[in-house]
Amino acid sequence: MAAPKPTFKRILLKLSGESLLGKRPYGIDIPTTRAIAQEIKEVHDLGAQIAIMIGGGNIFRGVRGTSGGIERVAADQMGLLATVMNGIALQDALEKQGVVTRHLSAVEIKTIAEPFIRLRAIRHLEKGRIVIFTAGLGSPYFTTDTAAALRALEIKAQVILKATKVDGVYTADPMTDAGARKFTKIRYMDVLKKGLKVMDATAISLCKDNDLPIIVFNLRKRGNIKRAVLGEGIGTKVY
Ligand code: UDP
Repeated sequence: MAAPKPTFKRILLKLSGESLLGKRPYGIDIPTTRAIAQEIKEVHDLGAQIAIMIGGGNIFRGVRGTSGGIERVAADQMGLLATVMNGIALQDALEKQGVVTRHLSAVEIKTIAEPFIRLRAIRHLEKGRIVIFTAGLGSPYFTTDTAAALRALEIKAQVILKATKVDGVYTADPMTDAGARKFTKIRYMDVLKKGLKVMDATAISLCKDNDLPIIVFNLRKRGNIKRAVLGEGIGTKVY
């Protein structure tokens, strides 16, 4: 039987730093990182071009730092570097799966990662390399969600796959509210109006203004990245 063809040829996968936590309260769980890398490789084997934006919340978030008394810009710079550490771990796990990767950081850190150059990123994807974006946009006061939306537009990704801990977008937090209902699809404007926690408002607005769909799905169910790329209608589509 012929291998299934991806519905989306070029994707931007947004992984939060939390996705690397496993059962740990903090930091990077190597087996969890390896398992995610295996799934990404399976999607890559389908022929999809994959760029990943990785967050840093498992290590440091700027806002958390400010509550401890660190100046916001300094705290965000620490958050940015946290994403670079995650990027190194993910790159290592992917390379161990035998896929060729390139790590592109928005903050210059030459001996570890290439600088972000749009056409170079696209070239890597065309050559079948998995591109890992780190350091968000390189500027404070932004999030890696917004960076994911911007980079997805720049590399002309067809969709953002936003990996989360739950099955999609709900009317309320399904972890705390048993009556929460899942949306199979929802408009950008409704996400903004209802203040639903999908991605931050800047990210949603960018996607809305440029018609870039987002699929919010549960990363904890094995095979879900593949299902999303094959267009199996999992999670919630924001359109
Ligand atoms: N950050 C930033 N500018 C960016 C992206 C991220 O300053 O363009 C900082 C910010 O402090 C943020 C931290 O990096 O809290 C980690 O990113 P994020 O919170 O988006 O990670 P995630 O929630 O996806 O793990």
